[in-house]
Amino acid sequence: MKQFSLILIALLLAGCTDTPDVEELVEKRLLFLYNNQEAKKMVGNKPLVQAPSLNFNLRNPSYIILHHTEEPDCESALQKLTHPATRVSAHYLICKDGSIYQIIDDHKRAWHAGSSRWGTITDVNSVSLGIELDNFGSEPFPEIQVESLIVLLKNLQERYNILPTNILGHGDIAPGRKKDPHCLFPWQKLAEEGLAIMPDSVHFKEIPDDFDYLTALQFIGYDTRNPDDVIEAFRRRYIGCKTQESSTLTLYESELEILMNILYNHQKY
Ligand SMILES: [Zn+2]
Repeated sequence: MKQFSLILIALLLAGCTDTPDVEELVEKRLLFLYNNQEAKKMVGNKPLVQAPSLNFNLRNPSYIILHHTEEPDCESALQKLTHPATRVSAHYLICKDGSIYQIIDDHKRAWHAGSSRWGTITDVNSVSLGIELDNFGSEPFPEIQVESLIVLLKNLQERYNILPTNILGHGDIAPGRKKDPHCLFPWQKLAEEGLAIMPDSVHFKEIPDDFDYLTALQFIGYDTRNPDDVIEAFRRRYIGCKTQESSTLTLYESELEILMNILYNHQKY
């Protein structure tokens, strides 16, 4: 009887091997990565002594990066984000009709941020969740899509204790290289829900003579190595589409005022 059961199990397993499911492939990939790291048992010329402990769990994300897909529709975005050849992905995709797809588990490292920097963080993918919004790149974001985003962000914020200072656009963390989400994205709506930092009112009216706006932007987290790019990123995020035509490469007085108020809101967290 026992033998018969074993044969039956073996047959069932054999039947399953024809179509390995996604979970199985992911586990195989994780095992491969883990084993490769395990092989590194030396640090320079020093042996690395293994002393394993069970006192660990999975790491939680502490940042959320928002993107627009730049694809014609949700279906093609989904294909792009799941096809192995593209080498890009995100944890979530929100379609224009408000439907939400989970593509990568929250605790796994998706490939959405690329070469990015925020403060001293140089590997943003390792600490963040990526959310893609179905949008071709210049069209408005439908209300129902933004509603779904807010519901998802609130859920993630509660689960992982993510600060509003840590919900950012791809364009914030890769100035000059990325512009998403584009200037019509409703950051103000997110700020009203405690999901982003925006300038709210007028805490500061007087700009100090020695106010150094690049240092201020750096304090917020921006990579200011290329000032022109960071000014463009600042305007897209905090002012929107209005000043996109502006060619000036220093901030106007009214923009400095906005920056001062953003700093004020940042230091609350
Ligand atoms: Zn992006």
